[in-house]
This record gives sequence, structure tokens and C-alpha cells, in this order.
Amino acid sequence: MPDAVDLDILRQMLPTTPYGKGVREIRQPVEFNDKAFEGMLARDPNDHDVWGIAYNGKARPERQRFTIAHELGHFILHRSQQQKFNCDKQSIHTGIDGLRAIERAADDFASNLLMPGDLLRNWISSQRIDLHVLSAIAKRFQVSFEALCIRFIKFTTQRAILVYWDNGFVKYEWRSSSAIKTRARIRRNADPQEPLPGTLAADAGVDQEWDGTEMSAAIWCPEEAPHMKLREFKHSYGARDRVLTLLLIESAEPRAWDRSWQDGDSFDSYDQFVSNGQLP
Ligand SMILES: [Zn+2]
Repeated sequence: MPDAVDLDILRQMLPTTPYGKGVREIRQPVEFNDKAFEGMLARDPNDHDVWGIAYNGKARPERQRFTIAHELGHFILHRSQQQKFNCDKQSIHTGIDGLRAIERAADDFASNLLMPGDLLRNWISSQRIDLHVLSAIAKRFQVSFEALCIRFIKFTTQRAILVYWDNGFVKYEWRSSSAIKTRARIRRNADPQEPLPGTLAADAGVDQEWDGTEMSAAIWCPEEAPHMKLREFKHSYGARDRVLTLLLIESAEPRAWDRSWQDGDSFDSYDQFVSNGQLP
């Protein structure tokens, strides 16, 4: 059985299932190429039993796939509420602030559909993680590397932190549940955060580090004991203005006595994203 879900078959089958009740057809997705456009789901005004999907044909194939899965999410979850869903880039992939609940739900739907948690959990628990492994899994699921990394953070039992840098500043940060429970957090040096001295993230001479470099965990996370280690990974995108940092930190006992991680830290974006977990 192939690892990647066949969205075409799913789309064709949906009207024959309870999830597509009252619908005769979801037409084959069509391209609509406009810079600000990501995707759309709409009911045919002339034939109410038919729905259609449009996507940005200029986007990368993995992103098109995510968008179509997102629109299928609107179809299943929200079509009784609206006749038309316009999903621009802001609302789907980057608009964390003010992201509407239905957009978040459609993103969650797409993540669950394209990267099934049980399969992912099996794969990531049976091997030593590095960016080669995560990239290979992304290819198997036919999703973007970044989307897979975010999903990894959600499912890993390791202490892990993922940081997305945009032009030298933190744009998003995600922490795995065990990282949160053990209060592993990055040293704050500015708002917005900049790369810390001594890290690969700060080293302009290193574009890629897919095997991971071991270092003292305290370089990144000041509350870590001096003997704790972490592995830092780095992936730079073509133009180098966007960088993904993955930190895998040695395991530690949860600090059950310390509940301050639950109190909410305005700078810690994890909680905002925990139910979202998607950014291709
Ligand atoms: Zn949407």
C-alpha cells in the first residue's frame, strides 16, 4: 500500500460516503493562478449538488496537495455553513494570528489526512532522527519538509524544539510535549528573537547541517543542566533568508513540581500552534 493518500480517489469517493451526503460530485480541482490565492472550495451556483475546488497551480506540488486536502476538509466539516471558502495564503499557511477556527480545523484535517499519526509515530520511533530521515518521510507522504517537521514535533516523544527563522528573526517556534513538560526553552535575547551566539543557527558559514551537531544544551536552553547535550540541525531554503532549526535534546525527567509551563508565556508560541501544527 502506498504511503501517500490518493486525494483524487478520495475526492471521487466522498459523495458516495456519509461525508458527502447530498452531493453528487466534487469536480476535479482546477488551477487558478493568482499570487495571493491559495485555494477555494465552492458550490456550483447552477447545480447545488456539485462542488468544485481551485488551487494555485504555481505553488509547489506538495503545497498544492496540502491545499486540496484543506479544501476537502472544508467540504466535510463546513459545507453546511458556507457556499464558498476563499483560502488565501495568509489564512492557510502563515496567518497564525487571527486564524479563523474553520481554517485551523481545515488545516488539522489536511495534516491528519496526509500525515496519519499512527504511521508517523511508527516511523519516527523506530529510528534515530535526523533531517535525512525526516526528509525521506516527507517524500513518502508527499508533503513539504517543513510540514513534516512540524508534525514530527507534535508526535515525537523526544524533547524537541523547532524554530523557523525568517530574515534572521524567529517567526514560529514549536516545542514537543516532553520539551514543554521539562521546561526546555530557548534563551531569549531579543524580541523578536535572534539566533544565539555559538549556535549553527547563528553561523552564516553553515547553510545545512542535516546530520546534526552535538553541543551543550545550555547553549540554547539556559535552564538545562551543564552535562545535558543536544543535537542541532539546520536547513536553509534557497534564498537563505528562511532557515529551519531543529533541536533534539537529551531526555530528562519531567519537572512535575514546576507547573510554570502551564501558566502561559506570551513569547512562547507553542500553545498557539499546538492544535494547528501546519506550515508547509
Ligand atoms: Zn480554508
